Amino acid sequence: MRIDLHTHSRASDGTQTPAELMRAASAAGLDVVAITDHDTCAGWAEAERAAYDVSITLVRGMEISTKFRGKGVHLLGYLPDPTYEPLVQGLVRILDGRNGRVPGIVERLQGIGIDIAEDDVHRLAGDPAAVGRPHVADALIDLDVVVDRKEAFAKYLNPGRPAYVNRYAAPLEEMIATVAGAGGVTVVAHPWGRGRAEDLDEAAFAHLLEVGLSGIEVDHQDHDASSRTALRGIARNLDLVVTGSSDHHGAGKVNHELGCNTTDPEEFDRLLERARAAAGASGRGTPEVLTR
Ligand code: AMP
Ligand code: ZN
Ligand code: FE
Ligand code: FE
Repeated sequence: MRIDLHTHSRASDGTQTPAELMRAASAAGLDVVAITDHDTCAGWAEAERAAYDVSITLVRGMEISTKFRGKGVHLLGYLPDPTYEPLVQGLVRILDGRNGRVPGIVERLQGIGIDIAEDDVHRLAGDPAAVGRPHVADALIDLDVVVDRKEAFAKYLNPGRPAYVNRYAAPLEEMIATVAGAGGVTVVAHPWGRGRAEDLDEAAFAHLLEVGLSGIEVDHQDHDASSRTALRGIARNLDLVVTGSSDHHGAGKVNHELGCNTTDPEEFDRLLERARAAAGASGRGTPEVLTR
């Protein structure tokens, strides 16, 4: 049984439609796949239909932009009731920040002499629910300013680069509680990606467990072997669920192919158990994963 719990579609910054993503997941030999677009459930309905057609089990999820001790943390939320008002409001606030940021980024790029318009970004992105820097990167590729997203981030879009603009992210503890209130469960995505080990240490995870966190994404391309071993140890000590995933973005990110990391079926069962408990406690959400 092959389980991949973190993937993106064109509902955010992946390059495949939700249906294409489900077909690719099936073709890659996955049995279970989660769709986890940034800050939105907009891809769920299409993914559900396609997952049914290709007989793959779909886990409805999202990757939520949060902040912890002043730094960005990506929080994976699985199986929440997407109509739970505090969750809806939290996501609206994040998405407003995403939309509001695009004009500022474009203006900064124009300021350093790049001939780009807001419309270039929106036209290529195809109006995703969650617009992000990767879509600006795609416009820069189309304009022959850079060759790939990686170069666009390194030269223009990363913090400290000329076109960087900050945006709103939800407080991490608050969002863990909000997803729990929606009957879902949460897993911290790639906690030690890009040099984050000093903030999210065992004491921090113990604190997050207390506010309702269910798991840690240990097996991720941003983690080297020693980070994975250390994070696995923390998860074991705290009885947190260990997940593994590709963080697939279609053609938008190299070395993140579907199934390049997977989640142990026993760990997946533990995650579903916690989802059932959260759904029961909140009277919301649904532990059901969609399967044929
Ligand atoms: P944003 O959502 O606008 O904050 O952009 C952050 C997203 O951009 C991340 O979640 C990644 O999916 C993507 N990203 C960040 N760095 C890179 C990179 N070097 N190459 C490709 N995609 C990236
Ligand atoms: Zn992304
Ligand atoms: Fe992420
Ligand atoms: Fe991601």
